[in-house]
Amino acid sequence: MSSEAVGTSLLIGRFQPFHHGHLQVVSKIAGESSQLIIGIGSAQYSHTLENPFTAGERHVMISESLKEAGIHNHYLVPVVDINRYSTWVSHVESMVPPFDRVYSNNPLTKRLFHEAGYEVTGAPMFNRAEYSGTKVRERMMRDDSWRELVPEAVVRMVERIDGIGRMRELAGLE
Ligand code: ATP
Ligand code: MG
Repeated sequence: MSSEAVGTSLLIGRFQPFHHGHLQVVSKIAGESSQLIIGIGSAQYSHTLENPFTAGERHVMISESLKEAGIHNHYLVPVVDINRYSTWVSHVESMVPPFDRVYSNNPLTKRLFHEAGYEVTGAPMFNRAEYSGTKVRERMMRDDSWRELVPEAVVRMVERIDGIGRMRELAGLE
């Protein structure tokens, strides 16, 4: 953390699963902030091809990855969806510690937090061609060179819960 790091930042994603692009952006934002709140979005979903992992599994994937990367100034909070954009910000506020700044590239998220008076900053993308949740899930489904796209702690959790078997069975491949 730099001496200029000030304020608490918020980053929300589904992290299905947490990959190296996520780790790099989290590392950068954590370095620019006193504290980083990571919201585990769509927390109620699991066992689908879009959202294979539970909020608890994602929590362990992220917290172990950050511990092993030496990043400690963060809170991890599961956030379930609500299907009403006008109350999304107050829903998030009700679930997470107080924050000053929001990092997002999503136009709707940016607009909603801006309207609520928060500082909103775009988040840099790292090697998006490789590091995307969709791409990682596609490779996991084929069990084809996905391990290099995610931190080691994610590999461990996927193996522990037979995540590849889960995804392949959900897809009707076995
Ligand atoms: P999916 O393809 O499932 O949507 P994703 O890779 O876009 O997965 P999300 O969980 O949707 O991941 O995104 C969470 C946050 O992570 C978003 O704010 C997004 O901008 C950021 N993010 C995703 N990929 C990268 C990347 N390669 N580099 C930096 N940030 C990323
Ligand atoms: Mg996405």
